[in-house]
Amino acid sequence: MEQKDVVIVGGGPAGLSAAIYTQPDGWSTLALETSWIGGQAAIAYTVANYPGFPPGDGEVLTENMRKQVTSPPPAGVGAECREETVVTINADEKTVITDKNQYQAGATILATGSTMQKLGASGEDEFAGKGVSYYAKRDYDKFNGKRVIVVGGGNTTAKSALVAKNEGKAKEVILVHRRDSLRAYPAMVKRLINEGVQIWYNTELKEIRGDDVVREATIANNATGEQKEVEVDWIVMCVGTEGNTKVAQETGLDMQGSVVKIDEQMMTSKPGIFACGEITGCRNHIVNAAAEGASAGMAASEYLALEKVKNGEMFEGTKNGRYADEYLRMIK
Ligand SMILES: Cc1cc2nc3c(=O)[nH]c(=O)nc-3n(C[C@H](O)[C@H](O)[C@H](O)COP(=O)(O)OP(=O)(O)OC[C@H]3O[C@@H](n4cnc5c(N)ncnc54)[C@H](O)[C@@H]3O)c2cc1C
Repeated sequence: MEQKDVVIVGGGPAGLSAAIYTQPDGWSTLALETSWIGGQAAIAYTVANYPGFPPGDGEVLTENMRKQVTSPPPAGVGAECREETVVTINADEKTVITDKNQYQAGATILATGSTMQKLGASGEDEFAGKGVSYYAKRDYDKFNGKRVIVVGGGNTTAKSALVAKNEGKAKEVILVHRRDSLRAYPAMVKRLINEGVQIWYNTELKEIRGDDVVREATIANNATGEQKEVEVDWIVMCVGTEGNTKVAQETGLDMQGSVVKIDEQMMTSKPGIFACGEITGCRNHIVNAAAEGASAGMAASEYLALEKVKNGEMFEGTKNGRYADEYLRMIK
């Protein structure tokens, strides 16, 4: 079994920020990511609220984060990222079990964030990836000349509709929203209207049908109760996000409502397992997730040092005795 000082579960802003703190402290660090590096931040259209990053594409920001994590020093910290899905963590044996491997980890940092929520419409699961998308930004090359329905009412929905229309060159874009007004900023609503996106208020998408791809959807009018069948090629769901707490639950970590419970040292209910970012209930912003990741990285680093000192082992920082004293003072 491969041994790592720190295994990070999730390669979003929280996980990547944690790596930036653990690897330079001398702890071999591996970040495991099930899909694309950068997490939700990589699908953000324009990030305008991350310090030191002039408003721009979220993918540019997360690509910079990835480079900072994986490039050898001095350009980066020289940690490693691998594409693997973590299934569970065995806290007693300190092992991380993925779909491909098992790792022995001194400390584990859980940073599994959130994914786009499902709407719950009939046929949604069957057609996921075959005309049902959760990420307009990653799928817009498929919208050319097509009729696209975007479901939701916030700024991300509005932006997805605009991306489908402009970058995606969709023939027609319909925004389906269950209420009588959008939550998106008024300026965004104006843009939708000016750029020819149809907004269907008080409507709900009930059912999706097709053969090997999506062909048709049933849309209900909440005000009148009427239902109509609409021909459609792609449906983009933008109805919020939900926490990826499956690994936390498989691992038996204590929860606090829907989020992972942590103490002031970012440690979960299991010793040596830390958590950070959206799964701990931090504000849903990149800067908050990154800050939590940094705190978790520092806490994990300190935990590993203390474990070594407790076991009487030497490590880089203890060689001149100074750091060992500091750590010894921390042991109660
Ligand atoms: C469309 C959109 C636009 C946004 N725009 C902005 C914005 O402009 N500004 C802003 O500040 N915030 C924005 N946000 C929010 C911001 O992106 C998130 O708050 C932030 O990315 C959370 O970081 P995180 O690391 O906690 O989680 P995530 O970014 O969700 O990353 C978690 C990662 O863990 C991975 N993972 C999950 N389970 C496993 C597993 N079992 N094994 C391995 N890997 C796993 C996931 O694939 C994911 O990559 C936006 C979000 C969205 C969806």
